[in-house]
Amino acid sequence: MNVVDLARPEIRTLKPYSSARMEVSAASTLLNANESPWPQPDDPLGLNRYPDREPSALGKRLADLYQVDPDQILIGRGSDEGIDLLIRAFCRPGIDAIAIAPPTFGMYAVCAGVQGARVEAIPVNDDFTIDPTAIAARLTPAVKVVFLCSPSNPTGQLISLAAIGELASVLAQRAIVVVDEAYVEFAGRDSAATLLVEHANLVVLRTLSKAWGLAGARIGALLGSPDVIALLQRIMPPYPVPTPCVAAALKALTSEGYETTRRRIRLIIAERDFLATSLERLPIVRRVYRSWANFLTVQFTAATTVYGALLRDGIAVRNVSNQPGLADCLRITVGAADENRRLLLALEQATEAL
Ligand SMILES: *Cc1c(COP(=O)(O)O)cnc(C)c1O
Repeated sequence: MNVVDLARPEIRTLKPYSSARMEVSAASTLLNANESPWPQPDDPLGLNRYPDREPSALGKRLADLYQVDPDQILIGRGSDEGIDLLIRAFCRPGIDAIAIAPPTFGMYAVCAGVQGARVEAIPVNDDFTIDPTAIAARLTPAVKVVFLCSPSNPTGQLISLAAIGELASVLAQRAIVVVDEAYVEFAGRDSAATLLVEHANLVVLRTLSKAWGLAGARIGALLGSPDVIALLQRIMPPYPVPTPCVAAALKALTSEGYETTRRRIRLIIAERDFLATSLERLPIVRRVYRSWANFLTVQFTAATTVYGALLRDGIAVRNVSNQPGLADCLRITVGAADENRRLLLALEQATEAL
């Protein structure tokens, strides 16, 4: 069975939109897309022209970065777009479902809701690890896409590559297994993309939004088998990635850019460990979860009170205490050194006031 046979039949037979630029992109006189012949004054990027559907220079750089072939990459508007496209392509409204492992990133369930796909919860162990065999036994046949987040937002936990590979094997004829690796740069571990050669039903989501400092440029990559990439390209809008965003990403993905990013990752990891140790000493802190990401999930004696006190000091953190298993927890992004010290000071003052 080809993994694409799991997709919605109407998507497999859909005739995709064919844009002028897809038909002819290299000609000396471009009169096929109703563009203006003139860019705005002082526009070095030529924004009078539509962008390529899949900007090939960026595709090559991302292929180098993520160690896959260019035909295994779909560039989208953040990895959020990859989540949406997968659910649209594989889940029939009112019939199919996705599976998630709560507590987890909120977008999976939102995109499923928009598509009219049900959401099934995967059981997780107390330490937020997963048991692939138990999961496969629990899922109903309606589940077409399983979302794993590793390192997980909001718990910071890693899922082992062995468990991911095992789950992809068990579900080979049944479902797509998606590993969202938005934070893997901070984990010091191989990407699940190393498992793509063995598993046609595996998809990995990467992004330039976190470690690469380009959240505003909205560049994400979906890595998967060329068949899955080709399927998703059929339903993607014709000109998804804006030219200035491509330019910003190309600028970051140079050898200087790699050096800057590597240095910043080391800095964030050092700050994360310092912050974890400092937080553990505070009497209002019950538990600091071990994190492989650029944030710490922290259980307080009274999370909502602490959240309000920080906000009054102008410090915004994320209240995740309504998520399953995370009562009284706040998710705190690791910032620059001065920001982290400001946070600790504010928490010490909050401790005295409580
Ligand atoms: C931030 C985040 C994303 C979104 O990334 P974009 O590329 O900015 O869309 C995806 N998944 C998780 C788990 C995240 O925390």
